[in-house]
Amino acid sequence: MILMNDFRAEPTELIQQEIAAVEKVIKSGWYILGNQVKTFESAWASRCQVKYAVGVGNGMDAIEIGLRALNIGSGDEVITTSMTAFATVLAIIRAGATPVLADINPATALLDPLSAERCFSSHTRAVLLVHLYGQVRKMDTWITLCNNAGIHLLEDCAQSHLASWKDKIAGSFGAWGAYSFYPTKNLGTVGDGGAIITNLAEIANRAKILRNYGQSQRYHHSELGLNSRLDEMHAAILATRISWSDLFTARRKEIAKSYFDGIKNPLIHLLAEPIDNGNHVYHLFVILCKERDRLSNYLKEHGVDNLVHYPIPVHHQPPCRNIRRDTKGLAIAESHAVRCLSIPCHPQMSDKDVCKVIEVINEFK
Ligand SMILES: *Cc1c(COP(=O)(O)O)cnc(C)c1O
Repeated sequence: MILMNDFRAEPTELIQQEIAAVEKVIKSGWYILGNQVKTFESAWASRCQVKYAVGVGNGMDAIEIGLRALNIGSGDEVITTSMTAFATVLAIIRAGATPVLADINPATALLDPLSAERCFSSHTRAVLLVHLYGQVRKMDTWITLCNNAGIHLLEDCAQSHLASWKDKIAGSFGAWGAYSFYPTKNLGTVGDGGAIITNLAEIANRAKILRNYGQSQRYHHSELGLNSRLDEMHAAILATRISWSDLFTARRKEIAKSYFDGIKNPLIHLLAEPIDNGNHVYHLFVILCKERDRLSNYLKEHGVDNLVHYPIPVHHQPPCRNIRRDTKGLAIAESHAVRCLSIPCHPQMSDKDVCKVIEVINEFK
């Protein structure tokens, strides 16, 4: 089976570097909030071309902490997409704020600015963009829209590590960007991890307090925070993996290019290709098919694993059915959910694997 991810096929050299990193942490005798976290935070900040990165427990907490650091909470609305990981919306709710859901563009599955505008109210405090599947597109539209409305532009970058638009890295366009280092993400660890990146010192400082029980100095709790710390072991592993990320991203992009060149089947549509100034990092390669479930089973029978991101839009999840949304409805998110299919696109795939995926897809009738 050609898998969606294959960590066991990673280069031996990388695995050895990770084991050495873990050994160093164990032998150091210091496991939470130490030098490894500091080193990783400054490496990740510099890689993202921002001033600060703050390591946290996971991507969902990164969003919650980011919102709380801006004092966005009870009575405040945050506009986001219904076609995202549930964590995006759950984080808004956990921060005490109210999510409002807008529709997507059918060619990219990214938030549609016109739909987002229809969701504005006097309570709107922010737009939380999700750079879904690894794509960052036309950020000027969002910067203008948020500036004109006097609200924050926020970025969920859990799928867009080192993606960029006009050479600016995902997460650096607005007040902050939230990253996840869940194993399958483009930069991932062997467990949970996350980070907030920002150019604003107040947000970085507030995030450091919030991740550690709201503790401003030892045993002094200035507010009610969380326990959400990136630990030393994951920080050490992530620091090791940063140096592999350009190579891995380049491979993902190469595979995507082969798919664009090779997939030719009238039953299957591809999402839009990246725009000239946009660096799409292909966390996922998503295809569209009216008979998605039949295609999914067919691919599995022919040795090609696949997944759906996402089969149920957030507004159809039971706890979220009453969330306010675009008055015109979320029809595009709904139709995307029944058609989208993610096919293998990970750095350890061989050229032979890529050819096989293309061949099997092209033979689907
Ligand atoms: C993975 C993901 C998250 C959540 O990250 P965790 O580290 O699993 O909490 C949030 N948003 C998006 C778009 C994701 O893909």
